[in-house]
This record gives sequence, C-alpha cells and structure tokens, in this order.
Amino acid sequence: MVAHTHGSVTLGVQAHIIDVEADVSAGLPGFTMVGLADTAVNEARERVKSAMTNSGISWPKTRVTIALLPASWRKRGSGLDLAIAAAILAESGVVPGAAVAQSVFVGELGLDGSVRPVTGVIATTLAARDAGYQQVLVPVANAAEAALVPGVSVGAIRDLAQLVQVLTGRTPLPDPPASTESKPGPSLADLADVRGQLEARRALEIAAAGGHHLSMMGTPGVGKTLIAERLPGILPPLTDAAALQATAIASIAGLADGCGLQRRPPFQAPHHTASKASIIGGGRGSQVRMGAVTLAHHGVLFLDEAAEFDHDVLNAMRQPLEGGVIRLHRADFAVVLPAKFHLVIAANPCPCGYGIGRGSSCSCSTLQRRRYAIKLSGPLMDRIDLRLTMTRPSVADLRTEGESSAVVAQRVLAARDRSTHRWREFSNEDGDSVGLNAAMPSAALRRHFPPSDQGAQDLMRALDRGLLTLRGADRVLRVAWTLADLNERGQPSRHDIGFAMSLRATEGEWAA
Ligand SMILES: [Zn+2]
Repeated sequence: MVAHTHGSVTLGVQAHIIDVEADVSAGLPGFTMVGLADTAVNEARERVKSAMTNSGISWPKTRVTIALLPASWRKRGSGLDLAIAAAILAESGVVPGAAVAQSVFVGELGLDGSVRPVTGVIATTLAARDAGYQQVLVPVANAAEAALVPGVSVGAIRDLAQLVQVLTGRTPLPDPPASTESKPGPSLADLADVRGQLEARRALEIAAAGGHHLSMMGTPGVGKTLIAERLPGILPPLTDAAALQATAIASIAGLADGCGLQRRPPFQAPHHTASKASIIGGGRGSQVRMGAVTLAHHGVLFLDEAAEFDHDVLNAMRQPLEGGVIRLHRADFAVVLPAKFHLVIAANPCPCGYGIGRGSSCSCSTLQRRRYAIKLSGPLMDRIDLRLTMTRPSVADLRTEGESSAVVAQRVLAARDRSTHRWREFSNEDGDSVGLNAAMPSAALRRHFPPSDQGAQDLMRALDRGLLTLRGADRVLRVAWTLADLNERGQPSRHDIGFAMSLRATEGEWAA
C-alpha cells in the first residue's frame, strides 16, 4: 500500500500542486526521499521524524520512502514538511488514507511538532482550489491569509498532534480566523502635508486619473519623492482580483502582514544601487526571485535619481512597460512574472543637480549634460505621458494649504468612471487596465475620440511646426482626455489640449 496526499511548490508567483507518496515497507529502518529535492526538503527527514516522535506518534520501525511527483519539478523549501508527515501518518495507519487523499497540506514542522508559517500560502490555496481540491490545511499563522481565497475550505493546523485529532475525526477541522478585509487606513503619506507645489499636485492627480506614467525633474530637495510617495494614496483601491494577486505576491515575498487583503496599491522604490535581480527579478536555477517590478504589480514603481540606475536596468524596464510581465529564461524553463505598474521617475536636471531654474548655478560641462540626458531618453521616456519640471516653491506657496489625499482620490475615482464608461467597447482583454486613458490604442483615440475642433487645430499646428512627433501628439491626446474627464467635459477642449502640451513641453529639457 502506498499513501497519497498533496503538497505545493512555488515557482515565481505561481504555486504548483505536487503529489506526495509515502511507502512504508519491510526492510532495514531508513528514510529516503526521491524526486529532485533541495537541501531544505531533504532536511525535512529530520524535522518530520523529530516532530512525530516528540508528538508521541511512533515512527515506523521499517523502511520509509517518500516520493515527490512529478519528479522533474525541483522541490524547494520547508513547506512540504506537513504533506510529508500526513503521507507517513496515513501510510503507517495512524490516520485513514482517505482523510489525506483529497487535501493539500502546507507548512513547516518544528522539531517539537509545531506547525510553522511559510510564505506564499495564498498562491498555494489558489492553485489547490483551481486544481479541484476541496480542502487546504495550513499553519495557524497563515490561515487568515489562505482564507482570503474564496471557493475552498481552509483548516488551521497548530501542531502535529492536533492534525492527527482532526484527520481521525476526533476533533472537527478548526475554522481559520476570520480574514480581515484590511481597510486601507489613513495613508502615512497624505497630500495635505505637501505645501505649495500646485503644478506637481495637479500632475499627480492627472497621472492617477488616467494611469499615465510620470516623470519629475528638479533640483535636489525640491520635493520629488514627497510627491511620488503620495500616488498610492490617491489611486482607487484595488479590485478583488487585483487585491488578491497583490496580497499573494507580498505573501510569497514574505512581506504580507498575514491577515488582510491589501486594497492599497503597493509602492516600491528600489535604490539605484540595487542589483538588477532585485529590481527586475532573477535568481539562479529554480530559485526565482521576484524583483521590485513584480512587487509593484498593480501599484507604483518609483525610480528616484533615475539617471543613476544602471543602463541595463533601465533597458530591462521596456518589457514590463510594454507587456506588463517579466520573462526570466532558464536553461530548461521560463518563468513569467507579472509586472504591471504605474511608473514614476524622478531625476536631477544634470549631474550636479542645479542646471535648472532662475540663476542656475550648474557646474556641468556640455558633454556631461548630454551624456546625462541620453541616459534618460529613448524607450523609457517614450512611455511617459506626463513630464513635469519642478521648481522650488516660493515663500507664498509654502503658506498655501493643500487638499488632502481623500479629496483628490474622489476626483480621481470620478474621472476613472467617465473613462471606463467611454472606453468600454475599446478596452483590451486583460481586465485591469480597462478604461485607463494611458492604455488606449492611438488609432482608436484618433479615430473615435478626437478632441474639439479648436483643440484638433492646435494639435495639427504643433505637428506641422515640428513641436510634436506623431507619438507625442498621441500622448498629448491621451492626457487631454484625462483632463476632460477630471473637468467633467465630454471632449477635450482647446484648453485641455494646451495644458496637456505644456505637461510634456519639458521634453526638450529632458533630451537636450
Ligand atoms: Zn549641472
């Protein structure tokens, strides 16, 4: 007889259910494990054995063989402990085989028999549900997280002794603690704290309403980071599906708070000295490491001092900006990681940082300035609809009190409702960028949703004079639609077109 149950391994952001088989047969006592297991899994032998013995369960006096299938999947980490223990319990007759056959087990075992939390439980629970399993047994500490996944029963397991009680029907399966719908509490970064900077506040609101990527150029200390950090607070809360995905990603990365669904869009701000792997993703062999671009999925990726980032890293941004994913290629497989984010970049105007504004005291040579500008041109900047130049606020500006994030978020939401309604027939398949002006194909924009006559004339004139490229004109049109949505106009007016043009007029400075 062979006992049969299920565990899970995670690759990238995807969990895969694997079969765990235990065979206890006559022969010299021993414990072998087959099926491409890494060191942590191999150490499971010691953990499972000690955990069982210390829980008062006798260890089989014969030969124990565990097979992890499919064998071609490399098994990593300690999350398979509980599944291995369950298979052995069933095979040695401590619990009925039928009690483990249709369930998925996930959890690490302590030597004392306690069941310890693991990362990535949401992904496992999703995979289990989608593969048709009815029950997932998880560590108590992960149970609230697992229970966020609808459509599958989740049991919270404290220790091995309790697991035996549950599987033999002596105690009912304990319910997971109620998962909290984590209310996006007051953001730490509120727009009310930003004094002055009316233009930047306006640009941030437009970026949020239309889903436009944003760049900010200005001298050090002008408040670029202050503005960028406030974008998540004015974006609409994540939808159910997006929130579950974002929470699952945080859970795999070990960043989830372990209790609630994350409704607030994530914010990632990798430092320019961070490795390419930590920004884009990487790792060796089957060790797939998510980068900041994936942790920022459904949220905001902020690159401060963008020109200081490695050329390679900036180039690699192309793939997620175009396709919303990162593909990591390995010798024998490829992993696709989600990476759809709202990009905000900030940069100094030149290497010394002071080549802008009244009485600029720039000390850079022309060559230095040119080299610097080249780093920030091309494919990356091409994707950025809003290009803002920030200057130091005047003393009078500093006295003006700004609106709070909550007030701005209301307008953003209303504007998005308008654009979602307008684009409902033209939206692309993947659900979550539907209705964003920034995501709309240029052709549809020009053909079906032109600006007002006067606005169109201004746009044509700018094109004729070479002030705008065709692509640039499309970007202006997209931003103008967002302005129209924010202003509750049915069509971009001449004023909207003009303002949208002014928000990208700094292109010359960026690429000077
Ligand atoms: Zn300079």
